[in-house]
Amino acid sequence: MGKLNGKVAIVTGGSRGIGAASARALADEGADVAISYSSSADRAKAVVADLEAKGVRAAAFRADQADAAQAAGLIHSVKEHFGRLDILVNNAGVSAPALIDSEDVDESSIDHQFAVNYTGPVAAIRTAFPILPEGGRIVSISSGVATRTGFSGMADYAASKSALEGYSRGAARDLAHRGITVNVVQVGFTDTEMNPADSAAAPMFLSTTAIGRYARPEEIAAGVVFLASPEASYVTGTVLNIDGGYRA
Ligand code: NAP
Repeated sequence: MGKLNGKVAIVTGGSRGIGAASARALADEGADVAISYSSSADRAKAVVADLEAKGVRAAAFRADQADAAQAAGLIHSVKEHFGRLDILVNNAGVSAPALIDSEDVDESSIDHQFAVNYTGPVAAIRTAFPILPEGGRIVSISSGVATRTGFSGMADYAASKSALEGYSRGAARDLAHRGITVNVVQVGFTDTEMNPADSAAAPMFLSTTAIGRYARPEEIAAGVVFLASPEASYVTGTVLNIDGGYRA
């Protein structure tokens, strides 16, 4: 018997990386799981097949988190498909490192990072909270750079994740009386397509950590499952760092 039997979760950006690992980990605890994606339909389909093989119900929905209407529509689609929603994991994110004094600063890239990393999650939270029952869970994936940038080129991305963290703290206050918790996982360097462990920048990244290696997506997913679980009933408005000691 899994600790999430009977629950329904949505993981945005579940077609690969940390989102796919989180979807699998939630399914391992018995949750039915919806995932969203923006372009990787085939990969989302493969993740759904993995989830169904674990004996849970699963579905994939295309929804661009940069578009608040689609981010909100996704929540309604999940409720319609599964009949309920218990756990929202705001995972979809984009990072476009750029030095602010570079001559070719791309304003549209700044806007896009804010749209995916902040506006979309906020639209999802605002649409989900009236649907979530007592015991509902909202978990958003942030980054260690929201607290400590550590290296150059992260101003826009860090600001978008800091905004998400601030909103999450406020939402935790506002939704506690409904029995809904709202928390953040601050992720460190994790081996995904966004940040491959064999990139040229990896040694510099690792020099900022205590543990000195990349995380596996499953190590992040374990924190998501904890915050989504009944055991985390007294945890709200907080940040769980899973960053290999980046802040140590
Ligand atoms: P990833 O491998 O690049 O995967 C990103 C996921 O987000 C994919 O499923 C992608 O869908 C989806 N996505 C991207 N843009 C989207 C959009 N506009 N609408 C809907 N879905 C969208 O990234 P990851 O490393 O797993 O990152 C997951 C989260 O962790 C992000 O919030 C990221 O900021 C955060 N994070 C990652 C690291 C790291 O080192 N990897 C560190 C700190 C924080 P498609 O497949 O359809 O494109």
